[in-house]
Amino acid sequence: MIFTLLILLLLWVFQYFFIENYYRSAKKRDMAVAASRISSNSDMDKDDLEKLVYETAFKNAMNVKIVDKFGNEIFKENNMGSLSLLAQDKFGTTTFDLIGKYTESGGQTYSEVISNDYFKMKELVLVTSFGLDTDGTERYLIIEASIEPLASTTKIIREQLIYISIILFELAFIVTMIISRRLSKPIADITKTAKDFGAGDYDVSFNAKGYAEVEELSNVLENAKDEIKKVTDLRKELIANVSHDLRTPLTMVKAYAEMIRDLSGDNPVKREEHLKVIIDESDRLSNLVNDLLAISRIESGNMELNKQNFSIVEKLNDCMTRYKLLIEQEGYDIQYIPDEDREVYADMEKIDQVIYNFINNAINYSGEEKIIRVVQKNMHDCVRIEVVDNGQGISKELLPKVFDRYYRGEKYKRDVVGTGLGLSICKEILKKHDFAFGVQSTEGVGSTFWFEIPITPEEKKHKKSSVKEKNKEKKPPTEQVSDKT
Ligand code: ADP
Repeated sequence: MIFTLLILLLLWVFQYFFIENYYRSAKKRDMAVAASRISSNSDMDKDDLEKLVYETAFKNAMNVKIVDKFGNEIFKENNMGSLSLLAQDKFGTTTFDLIGKYTESGGQTYSEVISNDYFKMKELVLVTSFGLDTDGTERYLIIEASIEPLASTTKIIREQLIYISIILFELAFIVTMIISRRLSKPIADITKTAKDFGAGDYDVSFNAKGYAEVEELSNVLENAKDEIKKVTDLRKELIANVSHDLRTPLTMVKAYAEMIRDLSGDNPVKREEHLKVIIDESDRLSNLVNDLLAISRIESGNMELNKQNFSIVEKLNDCMTRYKLLIEQEGYDIQYIPDEDREVYADMEKIDQVIYNFINNAINYSGEEKIIRVVQKNMHDCVRIEVVDNGQGISKELLPKVFDRYYRGEKYKRDVVGTGLGLSICKEILKKHDFAFGVQSTEGVGSTFWFEIPITPEEKKHKKSSVKEKNKEKKPPTEQVSDKT
């Protein structure tokens, strides 16, 4: 609106106040052009010259005359009619005066404003030389024109200006309303939705429409809302899980400790049995606390890697020793299928944690058959570790979520102690190492969790020089969910 007002103001100032000055200077310019056009053709054929003068005088509403040195008219073309001052100069005194002034000025042209008192008008006269007459005397060209704009023209222009102003102002008002609605309404909608969301209503949806930027903002906020909702839901679930998982072992510890105090304290066999329950439950508690600590460290961005070279076969054999008891006592078939030994470079403790998590999950979800394989596959420049189980597998919809923080499969909530943090810790560790990892799973058939550790540069050199045909290794199979493949 301000912009329109400025335009209108400019129009009014120019049209109303400056139009006369502008008209005058434009007229002066036209006269100078006409004068030079005619005078430069002074040696033209008589008929052509008459035509030229006639045209020029007609087009510009001028009085044009060519006079001799005494001011006698040789030729004239008056297009101003009775308004012409020179036409009323019956005795030619004004003309004679003008010629005198021109000669005195000694210039190319002489011009002067004269006024017509009767019509209250101002006129401009211009005198310039027009070559020599047949007798060798000077001839002059005199042009006269009114420099007052015609009243009717000005009136029309001013009237039009009023209409233009009204139309422009109304148009500006309408356009302003439309634009401001289109611009501000979606933003106001988004603000309202954001306020509701901020107040804790997670069912709102950011779907403002209008123009590209607002739609993009709306989509970004919608995604952010989904993420926040997901995290909030998962946190709620985690608190529920954690409190449940903490309460069960604590109740067990308390109950068995009381049992030892009151009943089995003197019975070594029973006491051992009860103490084992207490120790197992304490282990569960400490695992849970460790997971929570690890995730809080990862969340605060404090995870440091302590990389070193180590033998992969040694590491995996070492891991397997921890499962001996489980294999002997609970009938699990856990086997490590090694390949040629390789030296790798990584944070050994953290890789250990990943392998344990994969194996523990395989144990937890392995189902009745209890068969778990830890497979080492040497690739061109890395070692691929796969933990394969033939448990229930993971459905296609849930597969992309298993590495998410706090995600736990519904089915296992009651029987298996877990926080839903194990795999997300693995993911953070492997991401921090920049290792490829992933999972392949078919429901009812089993799952394969895998990751790849690059071998050390020395190992690479050694490998290249010693065994050439090893380079023809197969590519890893494409996985359904993976970080890097
Ligand atoms: P937790 O095991 O503590 O629940 P994880 O992050 O280790 O948490 O695993 C997340 C979820 O992924 C598990 O709750 C389970 O539903 C699913 N999962 C992980 N490993 C397997 C597996 N080997 N077979 C089937 N499901 C699995």
